[in-house]
Amino acid sequence: MSDQPLRAVSGSQLPDERDNIALRPRYLSDIIGQDSVKRNLEIIIEAARGRGEPIDHTLFYGPPGLGKTSFAHIIANEMKVNIRITSGPAIERAGDLAAILTSIKPYDILFIDEIHRLGRAVEEVLYPAMEDFALDVVIGKGPGAKSMRIRLPRFTVVGATTRLSLLAGPLRDRFGVHFRMDFYDQAALEHIITRAAEMLAVEARPEGIAEIARRARGTPRVGLRLLRRVRDYAQARADGVITGRVAGEALNLMEIDHLGLDETDLRVLRTIIEKYSGGPVGVETIAAAIAEDSSTVQDVYEPYLLQLGFIKRTPRGRMATAVAYEHLGIPYNVLPDQPRLFEE
Ligand code: ADP
Repeated sequence: MSDQPLRAVSGSQLPDERDNIALRPRYLSDIIGQDSVKRNLEIIIEAARGRGEPIDHTLFYGPPGLGKTSFAHIIANEMKVNIRITSGPAIERAGDLAAILTSIKPYDILFIDEIHRLGRAVEEVLYPAMEDFALDVVIGKGPGAKSMRIRLPRFTVVGATTRLSLLAGPLRDRFGVHFRMDFYDQAALEHIITRAAEMLAVEARPEGIAEIARRARGTPRVGLRLLRRVRDYAQARADGVITGRVAGEALNLMEIDHLGLDETDLRVLRTIIEKYSGGPVGVETIAAAIAEDSSTVQDVYEPYLLQLGFIKRTPRGRMATAVAYEHLGIPYNVLPDQPRLFEE
């Protein structure tokens, strides 16, 4: 997502992380956390392998950096099949998708990232491909044009999206399996970061790992990125060992607070609290105040603030909660006509 800012705590992939695949889990057994997704996938994969069939079309949804792409690769590895990787914005025209589909081999996985960004005309081609394993093509133009149905081998579409609500209903329905990815807890993040530190041959003490995990916003990609940044700091400013103190200093220097919030998150909260008396305020207004587009606010900033319970979605817009005021050190004085969120 190139239109997103280069934040150390962004769940989205930054340009220099694109080739960093060494740390990616390859099999289900490498996955730490997401226990429910893992257990369900284990059964689905085992059953499909037993029947000698491809698995059902599978949709992963949730904030960036939680492992959706990793799971797509893992399905391919576990099923011992090939994976083709593309994304909603990359498939511009119906013909682009037709070209991909005609080259698909039996059992292949077609991974479509950001599937909510597929165009309507492209979706129309995808529907029969997913449902009937067929591609409808029109040959020729005008009155002599003929419609022809090409049979496709059985294959599996794995879709990933950060915004389930933007997915067209008919497309959503064509996925037999839906998995919601949750933020990771402290223990799972510590485990992931410890494993990565070992793979990167970085010496890290448990308190150092814990400090990084606490500020990783429940997101493995953020945890791994912070680990690399803290490693740099440890090498340049300490003796190379990531202790609790070294990690704390490095992360403070990066202006990431003890909950993993950075300057932009705090600006979102201050906008709601200081400019709009705690809300409700529309997401478009928040976006304008921090000079971002509203989909970035909804994809990147909001999910973690909602998870922390710092903001609430209401029909009239976003509201800051008592805990958000407390985090910013602002007294929480609710006016008589304002809803008292902490009593809900
Ligand atoms: P998404 O597709 O949801 O944006 P990715 O699958 O690209 O997320 O994962 C982001 C990074 O986090 C990858 O580098 C991956 O190695 C790591 N990662 C994600 N989930 C896990 C996990 N459960 N265990 C270990 N590493 C993980």
